[in-house]
Amino acid sequence: MASELRDLLDKKLLKECVHCGLCLDFCPTYRVLGHEADSPRGRIYQIRQVYEGKLSTDNADFREHIYACLDCRACQTACPSGVQYGAIIEAARAVAEPISPSEKTVGRAILGSVFTRPKLLDAAGVGLRLYQRSGAQLALRRSGLLKLLPQRLREMESMLAPAQGGIRRWSAPQVTPARGKVRYRVGFIEGCIMPQLFGDTNAATVRVLAANGCVVYSPPRQGCCGALQMHTGDRPTAQELARRNIDAFSGLGLDAIIINAAGCGSTLKEYGVLLRDDPTYAERAEQFAHQVKDVSEFLASIDLVKPTRSVPMTVTYQDACHLVHGQGIRNQPRQLLRQIPGLKLVEMKDSDVCCGSAGIYNLTHPDISVQLLEQKMDSVLATGASAVVAPNPGCTMQLAYGARRRGTTLQFFHVVDLLDRAYDG
Ligand code: SF4
Ligand code: SF4
Repeated sequence: MASELRDLLDKKLLKECVHCGLCLDFCPTYRVLGHEADSPRGRIYQIRQVYEGKLSTDNADFREHIYACLDCRACQTACPSGVQYGAIIEAARAVAEPISPSEKTVGRAILGSVFTRPKLLDAAGVGLRLYQRSGAQLALRRSGLLKLLPQRLREMESMLAPAQGGIRRWSAPQVTPARGKVRYRVGFIEGCIMPQLFGDTNAATVRVLAANGCVVYSPPRQGCCGALQMHTGDRPTAQELARRNIDAFSGLGLDAIIINAAGCGSTLKEYGVLLRDDPTYAERAEQFAHQVKDVSEFLASIDLVKPTRSVPMTVTYQDACHLVHGQGIRNQPRQLLRQIPGLKLVEMKDSDVCCGSAGIYNLTHPDISVQLLEQKMDSVLATGASAVVAPNPGCTMQLAYGARRRGTTLQFFHVVDLLDRAYDG
């Protein structure tokens, strides 16, 4: 509805687009689909039509083009007029229902129920790890029985990354002391997917922070950041999750709140906008958002303890969209990798183009997602690197899926995994 959109979005944001088209070549969906309506300029035009009451949010074409966007924000980086595309598309999604049934089911039902209840999410994580560790996954894949599942479920199963850690997920201690002299007090947001699938990376993050003189606080009442709910237009659930995290980290006297997942960091930094109309939380949300730092952003900003152990490996780096375009963090992860003795970083072509993961986009738009993934795998393999470093769990899972499709033995790491090795973690 136009009035709902007007409540969420200042028209001045829409007017900032001068229709120059300089963003078009940077837009992955425009490159793949070739339609103006699937370009940033075309989407902004349609959203403006809705804003002015000339187009209904029920219009099927409108909903399709809005949800075919990856929300990768490459257009935001490319735009010389500074158009805040992320704020525009997320407001549009908050007023327009997705067309795809899987987007509605996964987005509104699973993300709105399981991801808001940490105990339920933990139980699902235990089930997943049992499925993978007991040999059931291997047996089912070999038996061909998975072919009996509906196509979407088969696709979801094939994308599952092997979960790190034990059957019970790794949880950060409530307080981890600094190694040596205390330099900073930081909060650590564990995330929702990270502790279930990438517990070793979370543990490495805490160790690397502690090695750099940080006392690390990880309060138990924290939860999912709300990023996936925002991408699927479920703003009320994202707001509820934001309030929970703000409460969990309040009163700790922190210098920074650290996150190691790019998509989550981007949303956490937007809490001020998400809760700007909440009289109780608006100011606290703004303060919280200012404290949030991606782990690479934080480590690159301090006097880093020198990593001394050699990690002899050639790696390439994938820029997560929500780190490079959403938060403007491009050099910091590379700067950290270059400080690791023995490690060689080789750049891939188009490292800042979306890999097709984009939250749950690989489930809701598998055709476009796979085309983007195949282009990405060409770029990765052309580097000759034996490992890919990616700062977001969605990218890591997508690229690992791409590697399995190509039958390669590529390894996958987060920057902190490699720093941790170089600190003898
Ligand atoms: S979003 Fe920016 S780059 Fe794209 S058409 Fe509008 S003004 Fe031009
Ligand atoms: S966010 Fe990404 S997919 Fe969406 S319009 Fe911008 S560049 Fe295109």
